[in-house]
Amino acid sequence: MNDLKPGATIGILGGGQLGRMLSVAASRLGYRCHVYEPGAAPAGDVAQRLTTAPYEDQAALRAFAESVEVITYEFENVPTAALDLLESLRPIRPNRRALAVSQDRLAEKDFLTGIGLRTAPYRNVETESDLPAALAELGAPAILKTRRLGYDGKGQIRFSDVGQRDWTGAPSVLEGFVDFSAEISVIVARGAGGQVAAYDPGLNVHRDGILRTTTVPCGLPAGLLTDAVLIAARIANALDYVGVMGVELFVTAGGLVVNEIAPRVHNSGHWTQAGCAVDQFEQHIRAVAGLPLGDGQRYADVEMENLIGDDVLRLPELLGQPRSQVHLYGKGEARPGRKMGHVNRLR
Ligand code: AMP
Repeated sequence: MNDLKPGATIGILGGGQLGRMLSVAASRLGYRCHVYEPGAAPAGDVAQRLTTAPYEDQAALRAFAESVEVITYEFENVPTAALDLLESLRPIRPNRRALAVSQDRLAEKDFLTGIGLRTAPYRNVETESDLPAALAELGAPAILKTRRLGYDGKGQIRFSDVGQRDWTGAPSVLEGFVDFSAEISVIVARGAGGQVAAYDPGLNVHRDGILRTTTVPCGLPAGLLTDAVLIAARIANALDYVGVMGVELFVTAGGLVVNEIAPRVHNSGHWTQAGCAVDQFEQHIRAVAGLPLGDGQRYADVEMENLIGDDVLRLPELLGQPRSQVHLYGKGEARPGRKMGHVNRLR
């Protein structure tokens, strides 16, 4: 694929806030976006075109692909059959391998350990009958996670006792509990020519399984941060990745443990909008379009706070805070747990 010329159209699968912010970044670089989303689409407010159709609609998928020059995505759970059709028509960046690995927690862990990285100890729990042996081997506490379609802590059951019998209802992996002191993430980008650029690792705080804040600098020793960046780069290189990827890591007494990878722009990278000359959204568009990457250098200390559910009611107060940048996603109803926007505070 050649570099995309200004005016070219980029296809984005998924029309949530990540697709919305990707569309804004693409338009700043002179590109157009066509968003494909089966449901409500905050990205549709800002993209040049929106297709509202299910991922099973072959005619809609075909028309979408034929209207764009390259296809990217803002979420990793696009059905395989849809990807097969799209890939026969246009390049998909990041590639299918990155998607296959991140769509399935077992494949992800096998891949990560296969390239020499540490993950939580894990066992494949294909069916409920595999659970007792897996629990006996890993011990408690442990966490059972569905292999597919889990996000924000959904599809997970915690086991405090090896005798406990609960089931997720779907093929799962059992993970041994990692005794971590902090959760960090690295937002790494890899260009079409193999160039790698990473942002400073951010410290992540979750509540009820949902990311609340990301803070940079994260206050951990420099050597650990270098390790984190090298791990992220190793993953990107091993996948021959093109685009931005989020790598979530646990900090433990024995070093870094990879929790999961997201083959897309990531909530914990929103701080780059206020901290860097080229933010993660522009970086992803640059990579997908075959342009040179920004360098990832950070120019400010930033705290990103997610606005979840009723948090948006604090809008007047948030707008009055100095050195703060408010982003709203244009979603209608502020339901509990729904990400409505975020604030980047320069510290
Ligand atoms: P995940 O959806 O896999 O990112 O898990 C959601 C959250 O659960 C993580 O951010 C951690 O806080 C916690 N968690 C997940 N897996 C483990 C583990 N193996 N050990 C300890 N905590 C975990």
